[in-house]
Amino acid sequence: MERLQKVIANAGIASRRKAEELITNGRVTVNGKTVREQGIKVTGSDKVEVNGVPLSKEEHRYFVLYKPRGVLSASSDDKKRKVVTDYFDMIPERVYPVGRLDYDTSGLIVLTNDGDFANILMHPKYKVEKTYVARVKGIPTRETIKQLQDGVRIDGRKTAKARAHFMSGDKGKDKAIVELTIHEGRNHQVRKMFEAVGHPVQKLKREQYGMLVLGNLAPGEWRELSVHEVKQMY
Ligand code: URA
Repeated sequence: MERLQKVIANAGIASRRKAEELITNGRVTVNGKTVREQGIKVTGSDKVEVNGVPLSKEEHRYFVLYKPRGVLSASSDDKKRKVVTDYFDMIPERVYPVGRLDYDTSGLIVLTNDGDFANILMHPKYKVEKTYVARVKGIPTRETIKQLQDGVRIDGRKTAKARAHFMSGDKGKDKAIVELTIHEGRNHQVRKMFEAVGHPVQKLKREQYGMLVLGNLAPGEWRELSVHEVKQMY
């Protein structure tokens, strides 16, 4: 017996909170009856449907995709732009992106149908680190790097302590490469942090998410996580 919202979240359809919303909004049925109250328990033999679609008991799958720039971190798009799930059309399970990368950001994004795993990667309390490499305008000084490390004010609130490393600079072209590791996941956080210190991002790539790395993937390529990699995150 498991709580209905957990069963929905585990199926990878939605986060736990989103699953609760779906229930409140009358989008969930159990054995054909709409359920609006939270916390009811179901077993494997109960037939759960969300928006009229049965929850299948899918095997959990976990992937790392090297998202190219110009691809949306979503499972569909009104404007018919390419989305990250397009790369997984040939696998039978429906997987969903964990969090977001901007349309113009490239790099590592996780896709899975395991809602609990997605929650661990994204929930602020787990402080999972994400490492980005940014090409920025101008040459940041030591003090600027220190500011990024100590926290800068974005959207009226200071960012948490971060790791920042100056990698290289090109005075002639007035640009530099900086590596930044954060554990928060605020909206457009990296771009806003660099903007706040006067070095707008020209190009952004996510290299690492927790223990997960791109390895030798090329843009548009993906790999399935090993059992070991999945266990490490749990
Ligand atoms: N921070 C950003 O600003 N953009 C991303 O895509 C990811 C983190």
